[in-house]
Amino acid sequence: MPDGDDGEAGDGSDESSAGGQTKDWRRATICVSSQVGCAVNCQFCLTAKLGLQRNLTPGEIAGQVVTVLDRHAVRMGRDRVNLVFMGMGEPFLNYDNLMAAVRLLVHEVSLSPQRMTVSTSGIVPGIERFAEEPSDLRPKLAISLNAPNDQIRAEIMPINRKWPISEVIDAVRRVRFRPHERITFEYVLLGGVTDRPEHARELARLVRRTGLPAKVNLIAWNPGPDFHYTTPKPETAELFKQALTADGIPAYIRQPRGRDIFAACGQLKRTVEG
Ligand code: SF4
Repeated sequence: MPDGDDGEAGDGSDESSAGGQTKDWRRATICVSSQVGCAVNCQFCLTAKLGLQRNLTPGEIAGQVVTVLDRHAVRMGRDRVNLVFMGMGEPFLNYDNLMAAVRLLVHEVSLSPQRMTVSTSGIVPGIERFAEEPSDLRPKLAISLNAPNDQIRAEIMPINRKWPISEVIDAVRRVRFRPHERITFEYVLLGGVTDRPEHARELARLVRRTGLPAKVNLIAWNPGPDFHYTTPKPETAELFKQALTADGIPAYIRQPRGRDIFAACGQLKRTVEG
């Protein structure tokens, strides 16, 4: 993803692009998959419809990055590259291969783990293992939260019935955050389901109660076939963001990348057969 996600924060937020800086591939973010398909079954995600096909190997995970670096003639040290493990799959359900890939990328490609962000749907045992990783090999953490309470979250993310929000947050508290590091809460705005003003207020309370250094990345839902959800209007997303920031929670709207070719967040599944 060139620009937009600029990636200075290394987590796909728009934080550093707000100033209208020049945007080019030298400041890109690469979105990396960890599995083929996914078993987590988030109700708003096209990848979920594939089910889990298989885990990717460490070489296949790291290889996605190396392929993009080669294709765009990226020179480490000159160009600023960030990775987000937010592609197809749940990274913490392929934990050993994910972390082996991270070690490959750190040691063999010279990418900093502080420019990598792993996003999880809330796999508590995975977060607990992640908290034990040495800080020179641990990427930053994002939680795919997507709802302001357990009731809505369990409807749109069945995984919440196994690990409710409080258990996820307790596991996150074990992570020893580096100075200035923040956890990212990813939040997909589903029209009428998670995007109302009361949801924003409840989300702000939830994030504040965690006591964690945190920010919220808002993603307007990217449509797909056979879903009954709707994409909120840009002004609804903006109001949601303003409600969070007014409540003291840093919040950013992530611009969709690849929606035009059905390859944006939550759309990673082939839509044409044959
Ligand atoms: S949103 Fe992520 S964790 Fe949920 S089904 Fe899609 S790929 Fe899996």
